[in-house]
Amino acid sequence: MSTMTTGTVYLVGAGPGDPELMTVKARRLLDSADVVFHDSLVGDGVVDSIPDDVRVEPVGKRAGGERTPQAEINDRLVRAAKAGREVVRLKGGDPTIFARGGEEAEHLARHDVPFEVVPGITSAVAAPGVAGIPPTHRDHASTLAVVTGHEDPTKEDSALDWDALSGLVDAGGTLVILMGVGRLPDNAAALRAASVDADTPVAMIERATLSDERVVTGTLDTIVDIADAAGIEPPAVTVVGN
Ligand code: SAH
Repeated sequence: MSTMTTGTVYLVGAGPGDPELMTVKARRLLDSADVVFHDSLVGDGVVDSIPDDVRVEPVGKRAGGERTPQAEINDRLVRAAKAGREVVRLKGGDPTIFARGGEEAEHLARHDVPFEVVPGITSAVAAPGVAGIPPTHRDHASTLAVVTGHEDPTKEDSALDWDALSGLVDAGGTLVILMGVGRLPDNAAALRAASVDADTPVAMIERATLSDERVVTGTLDTIVDIADAAGIEPPAVTVVGN
């Protein structure tokens, strides 16, 4: 039996993509880690900035491709930590927003592996911000909701209450949809069915903060065609509201 001290797993947010938008703490941990397990959403610039002597393990792929099973990621985090390594689990944006950071933390806790959450700048806020659309504004929006546009298809009932979200938008709130490119037509239709005004402004920000960032704008009625014509692809953030 080894008497090695268990390493710590840092659940780190890499920010929205631009390497300059990661925290000082994330930078320090990436520079001193033994191993980094990262998602495919993490910006290439961030991954490239990891020093050569740090082991880098990509885990996970975009929607459509194979992704490393969550159970396998959980196991690998535990094994690396129990082998005495300092582990960075690096995720795009913030590690606790639609990133399974909570599930991984629970798994680590169950296996007595010390962990720490290191917040990152979430795309939910960064993408609208850099596109000139402040999610809240004293004159226009005093509520912000962040939802997934791509629910677990095995769920029986939608976890999204479109009537409530519609009320939020009607009351002047901002609705931010992550993972919403594939189901944009369904989501736009759901909002219309919940009687959100057809003229409600909608913007989509693709690859926010990266050099090839694109922004398209329209209304609830026009955004599906506009996004289609522009060929908007994931990752993109959809913003609905005045
Ligand atoms: N933890 C991440 C979100 C993971 S869910 C965060 O806090 O940002 C994945 C979704 O995030 C994508 O489908 C997309 O909606 C959004 N996203 C992440 N990075 C993005 C970027 N650079 N530009 C636009 N959308 C992004």
